[in-house]
Amino acid sequence: MPDRSSPRMTFFQPGASPDGPRQACPFCGCDQPASPRYPAYACATCCEKATDAQGRRLEFFNESVFGGLAARYRDTGEPYQGGGQCFIDGIECQAVEGRFGGIVIQPRVRAG
Ligand SMILES: [Zn+2]
Repeated sequence: MPDRSSPRMTFFQPGASPDGPRQACPFCGCDQPASPRYPAYACATCCEKATDAQGRRLEFFNESVFGGLAARYRDTGEPYQGGGQCFIDGIECQAVEGRFGGIVIQPRVRAG
């Protein structure tokens, strides 16, 4: 039996089941619960690798129990002013607030 308690999801998804459909993390390819709303979300391990454009590590979190997206630098704790923009493995990504709470990071899809 594969370990279905891991990886962790970084956002709350009602109805997500360990026995439900699966999708792969776009960065490491790990097996995680499928999300129709977020078809390319990064797993928790990859979210922890998120950096700014200069390679400084970022931590995204909800501003309050009511939600909202905020980020800070992991090294100094100072607020990150770049909005949801981040990079994982050199790929530009966008962090957003999860529909039901938590943080979702997905590769930014460029128009054209
Ligand atoms: Zn991953």
